[in-house]
This record gives sequence, structure tokens and C-alpha cells, in this order.
Amino acid sequence: MKTEVEGGRLWRRFPLAAVAVIGGLASVVACSSAPGPATPAPRPSAAPSVVLVTIDTLRADHVGAYGYAPARTPAIDGLARQGVRFDHAYAAAPITLPSHASILTGRYPPGHGSRHNLIAIDAGVPTLATILHGQGFATAAFVAAFPLDHRFGLARGFDVYSDRMPRDATGRPLNRRPGRIVIDEALVWFAGHRGTRFFLWVHLFEPHAPYGDPRKIPGRSTVERYDDEIATADEEVGRLLQAVRAGAPDSAIVLAADHGEGLGDHGELTHSLFVYDTTLRVPLVVAGPSVPPAGIVSDPVALIDVAPTVLKMLGLPRADTDGIDLSPAFTGGRLPVRELYAESFAPLFDFRWSPLRSVRSSGWKYIAAPRPELYSVDEDPGEVRDRAASEPRSAAALRDRVERYSPADLPPESRTLDMAAAGRLRALGYVSGGGADAPAAMRPDPKDRRELAARFAQIASGELTGQALRQALEAILRDDPRNPQANLRLGWSYLDTGDSRLAEPRFAAAVASRMPSADPYLGLAACQAARGDLHAALATLAAVGPTDRENPVVLANVGVLETQLNHLDRAIASLARAVALDPEFSEARFDLARAYARAGRFAEAERESTALLAQLPADAPQRPEVQRLIVAIRDARGR
Ligand SMILES: [Zn+2]
Repeated sequence: MKTEVEGGRLWRRFPLAAVAVIGGLASVVACSSAPGPATPAPRPSAAPSVVLVTIDTLRADHVGAYGYAPARTPAIDGLARQGVRFDHAYAAAPITLPSHASILTGRYPPGHGSRHNLIAIDAGVPTLATILHGQGFATAAFVAAFPLDHRFGLARGFDVYSDRMPRDATGRPLNRRPGRIVIDEALVWFAGHRGTRFFLWVHLFEPHAPYGDPRKIPGRSTVERYDDEIATADEEVGRLLQAVRAGAPDSAIVLAADHGEGLGDHGELTHSLFVYDTTLRVPLVVAGPSVPPAGIVSDPVALIDVAPTVLKMLGLPRADTDGIDLSPAFTGGRLPVRELYAESFAPLFDFRWSPLRSVRSSGWKYIAAPRPELYSVDEDPGEVRDRAASEPRSAAALRDRVERYSPADLPPESRTLDMAAAGRLRALGYVSGGGADAPAAMRPDPKDRRELAARFAQIASGELTGQALRQALEAILRDDPRNPQANLRLGWSYLDTGDSRLAEPRFAAAVASRMPSADPYLGLAACQAARGDLHAALATLAAVGPTDRENPVVLANVGVLETQLNHLDRAIASLARAVALDPEFSEARFDLARAYARAGRFAEAERESTALLAQLPADAPQRPEVQRLIVAIRDARGR
């Protein structure tokens, strides 16, 4: 008994930190089916239902309907012929979670609170899902990537929120899933909801880097592989649209991307850092019973307009949004003249560089940065001739406008770490000793770190591995020693090869920079545990930000550490919570069974271990270890 339950290193002893390397966590399908009020009958011209399709990382100028000759996008092109194509549509932020939050709330990021991936939207903000659920619509979302995990706040109002990612051979959850699976699930749900009023949102992730597996597709350029992924996403869109046209032909259909992709323009390989139109401009296509075919709208519009437009198309009252109803443009009407705001706080949260904020107005686009930029986007859509110096009055006027949307200085700790947790960290010596952060104006301008950012994007894209990856990260840290992302990734690179001594200072540096993520805390705790300082590891995990208090990986790690310290009641509570939040979290259930056994609670130990065996696949390499544990528990029970 002792050898099995207290003994050796049978299971991966700190398996859970490894899960966080890829940032993904399995999750649950939330089912809240409180009945809403009786569904109002739609007005004659109104659509009864709505389908929203978002394709991650899809540049408008790589879609056939937007004039891209090599495109293989027949489904999107067909939708554009059926409805209206917005030629100048812009994201509010070039990154997945904040942009989707703007689509679903109709608000700019300051209005919904998600300023970066991993920062949840404010719990009180109405979304299309909460509004339509309140109107009695059946609501379902099927998403393809971890940045849209339910914990970040977009699941509210959905009867079904499917964000369950597949697991690899060792049981670790992946952070993305194929569109084929997303659409398969969506079609099953759709088949059960024909004839009801519904809101169906599907999210496809194929065009996001890495573009396929470059090792498996030799000889194709980056752009060709990007286009291949777009073609795959388009096929899935086609399967969905075929079913919707057959089963609910009066539905409103909205298709958009959350942002574009740099592909080297402005020195940016991927997205999130800059606010140039290469990553802000997106395809936006709307079809439905009130939309004449083959429309083209050239007025500038934004993804914050999607929610108010959908509400109008459904015949529902408008909501409190920053965006406007675009439906007058369906029939050739002019849209009101207005300015459009966009931002990226990724430079601040990821790199401690200045955030970027921009306002587009009357053909000008101003980018607020330590060295501000001004472009005449009508004449210079590529944003290559900065006019800030030659047009100082236009620049000054737009600078004042930007400030009305958001200051450059956010109190990041107010959104990512509570102050008590930060205080505990300082006591451990991990928060930087340099006092308060520099004000935004004194931070590096992201365009002055362009080359560094490009190197980093190559790393983040997943196209470098092994020793090449490590060398690239070490080179970045020689130039920018406090770079949080580089420290975090280098820490995992060392830890993956068992070198916790080299990894620990890297994680400590990442923790000190207050990234809005549990990952650096998990890495640091893993290193502290590896050198035997379990109390320090527990203190590190106690300091994770509020978004991750209920992160099953954090809870399970706390449980493992408490078990090793023989604090079995605390260990059981933490592991049981992790399993309750993520029933497929096999490692946590194994450790829970062990903790029960060590505490002499053999019936519960047997219940958890047999449940684990039942849920492991037949070929799972962990099965023999679980079977040994069950035998040991039964011996201990005296059977
Ligand atoms: Zn995205």
C-alpha cells in the first residue's frame, strides 16, 4: 500500500505545470437552460434567427470576394453574393479575446473590460447571447481555441458553450481544435433546434499560425500555407451554410474575422502588436431576409457594429453599444459620419512596451504612441507615409480624441492581480524592485522594437522548435532582459528538459512582470518544488491572479503540494475542486485518489480510481499505473 500510494514517481509528479505550457485547459460544456420569456414572433421582414461565423486571423485581402485572385474561398464568396460585403471593416483590437468581446458586446475594449487575451470581460456587460437568451432564443456557441475559453466571460447567455479542446497522446489538452469538429458539433445542435428562434455562433481557428505543420508540407511558402488554412476554414463554413440554408433559410448570417495577419507587413509576422490595417481590417459579410444580394458598402465600419446590426435584423430593440446599426447601408443608405477607435494593449501586457491606440476619422488615422503616427488612409491605405510631422494640427486634434476612449496607462494589477496577492509576491522577492512601472510615454515604442517583435513572433508562431527555439529566446533576452514572454517560454524550454535551475530565474522574471496568466506562476512553483521548497511553491500559486483562482491546473498543483506536505484535507479539497471543474483532468483525479488513500478514505479512493480507469482510453499508457493503484487500495481495504 505504502509503495503505491505514498511512494515513488509513478505518475508525472508535477504533471500539471506541463499542461500549462500550451496554455490550454479542458473545459466544460456549460448548460444553463433557464427558460426565458415566451419568444416574441418576429416582424415580417425580420430574421427569426441568426448565425454568426467568426474566422480567426483572416485578412480581408486573402478572400476571393475581396479581390484576392489565388483565393479558394467559395463559401465566403457565395455568402457575399447572397448579401452585402463591407469593404472597409475594422476590428477594435487585433487580438482574439478582446476582438470577439467587441463583436458580441458591440463595445470597444474599454467598455467591456477585456484589454488582452486572458483578461475576462466584465461580468455585467450585456452580450448578444445574454440579450437573445433573455428574449427566449436558443443560444449555442462552438469555439475552436483556448483564448475563447468560457472562463474569460463570453459563455454568459449561451445554453451551450462548447470549448472543449482535444487532448494529445499524453492527456494534455491542446489549445486549438479543427474546424471540422466545431462544425460537426454545431450541426448536431442545429439539427435539434430547427423551428426555434436561435443564435448560433461558430468560431474557426485554421488561419492562425502555425499554418499547418511546415514539416509535413515541404515546399509551400508561408503565404501558401496560410491560404491553405483559409481554404480549409472555408470548406467548413460551406458545410454549415448548406445546412442553415436548407433548415433555416430565413436566418440572418454574419461572417467576420476577429483580426488580420501581418505576414511581414510593417515588420509584423502575425498579429496583436501593431494597429495597422493589415491586422485591423477584416472581412465582414452580412446576409438575411432584409439584405438584397451582392451589395458592397465602402463606408468605414467596425466589428462593434455587428451586435447592434444583428439586433436590428432580428427586430429587437437596440442595446447600449458603441457600435451602430448598419442595416441602412444594406439598401444603399449612407451611414452616419463617425470616428472609429482601435487599440492594442498587447505591447504593454506582453512586453512592457507602450500600448497603441488609434482613431480613424475623415480619411485620417492617428496612432497614439511615444512617437505618434498619422496616415492619410484614403490615399495611403498601406500606411507607409507618416504625416505626423507635416500635419501637426490634424495629429493634435486626433490625439485629443484618442484620450477620450482610453488613457495609455492602465492599472494592470487592478485587472490581473489583486493587491494582497501582489503583496505576498513582493514578500517573496519576486516583483521587480524597480518601484512603479514607467508611465506609458516613457515606455519603448513598439515600432522601435519591431525587429525584436518579429523575432518573437517567429517563436510564438510555433514554427521554431528545440535548440533553435532556445537560441532565439536567449538572443531576445540579451537585447531585452525583462521581456516577459521570452522569459516564460525560455523557462518552459529549460523545464521541459529537466533543468529547473536554469528555468527558475526565467519564471521569476516573468512573474515579476505581472503577466495576466497563471503560466509563469506554475513554472516558478514547479522549479521551487523541484528543489524541495514546497512552501515557496505553495506561496507562488497562492499569488496567481483572480482570473486563475479557479484554474483547475493551479488547484491541482496546490493539491499535489499539499499532499507532499501531508496536509491531506487541504489537498483533497483542492484536487476535488479541480476535478469538479474539469472532470476529464486525469492527472488530478489520480492524485485525488492517492490523497484519499493516504488519508485512509479508501472507499473514496477506490471510487475515484475506478472512475479514472473507466474514462481513460483503452490504449492510454497510464492504465497499468491506475490498475496498480486500485489493487493497492483494495488490499488496504482488506479485500
Ligand atoms: Zn484571433
